[in-house]
Amino acid sequence: METRVLKINDAERDCSAILEAARLIQAGEVVAFPTETVYGLGANALDAAAVQKIFEAKGRPSDNPLIVHISKCQDVDRLVRELPPAASSLMERFWPGPLTMIFKKSHLIPDTVTAGLDTVAIRMPRHPVALKLIERSEVPIAAPSANRSGHTSPTMAQHVLDDLGGRIPLILDGGRCEVGLESTVLDMTAEVPTILRPGGITYEMLTQVLGEVRVDDGALKPVKGQRVKSPGMKYTHYAPRAQVVVVRGELDQMVDKINAMAQEYMKQGMEVGILATHETKDYYKEVKVLVLGSRTQPAVMASNLFWALRQFDDLGVDIVLAEWIETREEGLAIMNRMLRAAAFRVVDA
Ligand code: AMP
Ligand code: MG
Repeated sequence: METRVLKINDAERDCSAILEAARLIQAGEVVAFPTETVYGLGANALDAAAVQKIFEAKGRPSDNPLIVHISKCQDVDRLVRELPPAASSLMERFWPGPLTMIFKKSHLIPDTVTAGLDTVAIRMPRHPVALKLIERSEVPIAAPSANRSGHTSPTMAQHVLDDLGGRIPLILDGGRCEVGLESTVLDMTAEVPTILRPGGITYEMLTQVLGEVRVDDGALKPVKGQRVKSPGMKYTHYAPRAQVVVVRGELDQMVDKINAMAQEYMKQGMEVGILATHETKDYYKEVKVLVLGSRTQPAVMASNLFWALRQFDDLGVDIVLAEWIETREEGLAIMNRMLRAAAFRVVDA
């Protein structure tokens, strides 16, 4: 199958591309589209056969449920069995935006979408192309990240083409994603709302609205077995071709340890990449260094993480030594993804 890429500079003016994508969605096809978090691979969420095509294109395990995207807050009503009162305050404050909430699902949602769970994940994205596509499709759109299962999530149309070219009919190219990490997944069916996957809406922001919020144990640790509440968190994820090792410690010690490790790997003939920050980048020599951003701006570092992991692949690096980032604000989401990219290989400095 030929994969067409249609560039959109202005969601209002370039409406013909969005209309074409909407027609494909209505015809039961899949389409990749930009959101403010990462690129999504969407299909009509109410059509089980269409949703099945998402799993096939991605090679996604069928027990990993999808997020359903809507364009108006009212759309949530017919998709869920009940809305806890706290949900309204969260919608008002964070929708449209990078917050996904889990509710008890209504009969309208096919089991394929939720991987057989009786709950459904719902989000209203704020990217104008995503909003217009959902609106014009006139159905909710089920969409996971538009990458081959296990790869790093795409933050540019080219990433989608690299992963899914020849497997899907259309990619809407809306430029680079602003948040650059997937949405926060918040379980609203738990006694205390619980973050299953940290993301663009931080723990700190959620506690301001809700008071008490929990963070699932799996945020910074491997999760296994039956206890998994967010099935997606148990899979190998965000893995670039290179092996990733995270180095943790005080800034000075971390830099020394990374330099020592880099020397060792180079002696073995390996091409070494270092994932650094503004504060440390000048201390690394003779290696390929990519800078996430300043440690004082976790949102900026978050937006660069997936781009950097894919960039190391293009640079032909064999091993990436990544600095630990403090887990406050967006730092929690950064470390959640970085640790998975590293398959939880952590070295203390
Ligand atoms: P992706 O869109 O590829 O980033 O993946 C969606 C994420 O949302 C995965 O981690 C899923 O496990 C999670 N998710 C989707 N639906 C549910 C649900 N009903 N309960 C818990 N987690 C969910
Ligand atoms: Mg994904």
